[in-house]
Amino acid sequence: MPTATLAHETDFEGWRKAARAFRLAGVEPADARFGVAGAAGTGSLFDDPPARTGSAMETQFTVPKAFVDVAQEVILHRSADRFDLMYRLLWRLKDEPDLMKVVSDRDVADAMERAKNVSRASHKMKAFVRFRAVQDEAGETFVAWFEPAHRVLEKTAGFFVRRFTTMRWSILTPDGSCFWDGEALTFGPAARAEDAPQDDEIEEFWKTYYASTFNPARLKVQTMQGEMPKRYWKNLPEAALIPELVAASRARTEVMVASQPSEPNARLAKAIARSVRDGSWEEGFVAADLEELRHGVQACRRCPLYRDATQGVCGEGPRAAKLMIVGEQPGDQEDLAGQPFVGPAGQVLDAALEEAGIDRAEVYVTNAVKHFKHEPRGKRRLHKTPTTSEVSACRWWLDQERRLVKPKVVLALGGTASLAVLNRKVAVTQERGEPLPLSDGSTAMITVHPSYLLRLPDEEARVRERAAFVRDLKRVRDRL
Ligand code: SF4
Repeated sequence: MPTATLAHETDFEGWRKAARAFRLAGVEPADARFGVAGAAGTGSLFDDPPARTGSAMETQFTVPKAFVDVAQEVILHRSADRFDLMYRLLWRLKDEPDLMKVVSDRDVADAMERAKNVSRASHKMKAFVRFRAVQDEAGETFVAWFEPAHRVLEKTAGFFVRRFTTMRWSILTPDGSCFWDGEALTFGPAARAEDAPQDDEIEEFWKTYYASTFNPARLKVQTMQGEMPKRYWKNLPEAALIPELVAASRARTEVMVASQPSEPNARLAKAIARSVRDGSWEEGFVAADLEELRHGVQACRRCPLYRDATQGVCGEGPRAAKLMIVGEQPGDQEDLAGQPFVGPAGQVLDAALEEAGIDRAEVYVTNAVKHFKHEPRGKRRLHKTPTTSEVSACRWWLDQERRLVKPKVVLALGGTASLAVLNRKVAVTQERGEPLPLSDGSTAMITVHPSYLLRLPDEEARVRERAAFVRDLKRVRDRL
């Protein structure tokens, strides 16, 4: 029986040559056999080239481009009979030149469906590859393990080259592997899951990012699983959170519905009443310690932001911290909890501090503006950037925190914090990471706000910007 042995599972050139030879020799689809060489890939295409039969009339032929396009996709399908299907179509094109237009034809429909499956597998690979950072002799490189539904590694590798051009990375799959060194893309042998790193700090970032973008009010479990099939979950760090987030979605939705600004608790209300009675929120009030400052903030009416917030959120941390980190303002969760940086941005900050070797327990963490500025949007309270005059009004409290804590370094996160600390508008990307002397003898340093990292829509940008953020924190650590 005429048999062709292809060099590997996706050897389209080999299949094309064999199929051409079969058809010219008049080999019927039922008689044609296609196999794949072993791992060594050493066999030649034909052990015995097919001999022309008496019925073979053709000496050459062409096929429509539509067939070639579909066949190039179908060969990537994992089905064992894909070569036979492609050859059957090629054979029938001899007498039915417009066959590929007959979408109701069983073979055509079958090929179209397999091509669609391959295209979907490529799309899923683009969406679900997760790189993990590792160090090698040349520095930082990124490695991902992925199990595509079909053999789409080579088809999809170009997407990652375009997307992660400036990184060095490898993608390992059970079918093969590919490597990008910043200049050239090369392909290598199949790999095992153990060959890839199992976790890294980026994993925590992914989880924080996913949890922060997960909206329980919009949850549709079936739709989500359609978009993010369970077969990919084991390679997605954030997937570990899904059962918990889904289980908690009803409760979280109720919290979102109920999370309109509420009255401060009784203890807080008493403290505010006392502060108001004492006039401690008035111009000129100088707090003797952080406790007094906290009461002053609760009673503050220096700008209108107190009206819609649940409570003022003061800084937290050791009284004599060497490092003070200043954010923009409390977010939704901080406003409810009464503590700075406890929401998603706080989790990103914590993970980055740990990576940079800075213990958050030794840092005084605060915000430029102490009340949550927001606007209601449906069931949610959306962050609004404080105005320059609001930042200026609230600097009163930040300056007092600096006077009481006396940090050696003040790290401003983002433009609003930089404005509050330096009393001037700052281009964060131009001045980040550089020491800037302050009038009290301490040093200011600037970097981006962690919520900026959470908002980036593109994975390459997220990985790159997070690395830059950690680098800035390491510079701060070195100054301490
Ligand atoms: S945001 Fe600052 S200045 Fe405005 S009311 Fe609150 S504590 Fe006072």
